[in-house]
Amino acid sequence: MSSPWFERDPASLRALEHTLRARYPTLHVFLENGTCHVRGTIAVVENDRYQLDIELPDDYPDSLPLVWETGGRIPQELDRHVLPIGALCLGVPLRLGIALKGRFDIESILEIPVRNFLIGNSLVERGEDWPHGDRAHGVAGILEEFDELIGTDDKMRVSRFLLDVLQGKIRGHWPCPCGSGLVLRKCHREGWETIRKAPRWLLHHSLDAIMKDLERRTKKARAG
Ligand SMILES: [Zn+2]
Repeated sequence: MSSPWFERDPASLRALEHTLRARYPTLHVFLENGTCHVRGTIAVVENDRYQLDIELPDDYPDSLPLVWETGGRIPQELDRHVLPIGALCLGVPLRLGIALKGRFDIESILEIPVRNFLIGNSLVERGEDWPHGDRAHGVAGILEEFDELIGTDDKMRVSRFLLDVLQGKIRGHWPCPCGSGLVLRKCHREGWETIRKAPRWLLHHSLDAIMKDLERRTKKARAG
C-alpha cells in the first residue's frame, strides 16, 4: 500500500488548506488514521447550510471522494439518493469524471456535484421534485449511462465495447454496438467519442464494475 497523497505531496495539502481558508472558511482539514477528511458546513444559498464530512481518497484528486451529510438533515434512504454506506450518491463516476475532466479536486467537487445535490435536496424538502432525474445506482446506473452514449445497456456488448476502446481497436466502419446495422461513424459516433476521451481509469472502473456483476450472476445461475 503506497502512502496517501498528502504524505507523497505535502504541498498539495497546503494548497487544499489554502483553498478552504480563502473560499470555504467554514470547512477544515482533519487527518485521521492516514485519511484526509474535510469537515464543516457549506451554504448552498444564503441561510441554507449543510454540515458535511468529505473523505478524500488516497489518490486524491484522481477519484471521487465520499461525502456524508452529518447534520441529520437528509434521511439515509436510496430514495433520497443516499447510498447504503450513508454517503451521498453524487452521480455516476463516468459522467462526473467527464464533466470534471477527470479531476475530483475539492473546489470542483463542492461547486458541481455537491452543490447540485444539496440544492436538489433543499427542493425536495420543500416538497418539489428532485431536479436531476432518477438515475439508477451502481452497475444499473453505469449501464444507463452507456445506453445514452452508445444505445445499448447489454452488459456483454458494453464491456466488449469498453475493452475495445481501451485497446484502441475500434474503427468507424465497425457495426454500431446499438445494433442498428449502421456503421459506428454514422450512428452513435458522438457517444463513442465521449467514451474515447474519458480518463482511462474511469473506463476501467466501469468495466470492472460490469465484469464483477456478470461474474456474480453467472455464479448464482450455476448454483441455482
Ligand atoms: Zn448506434
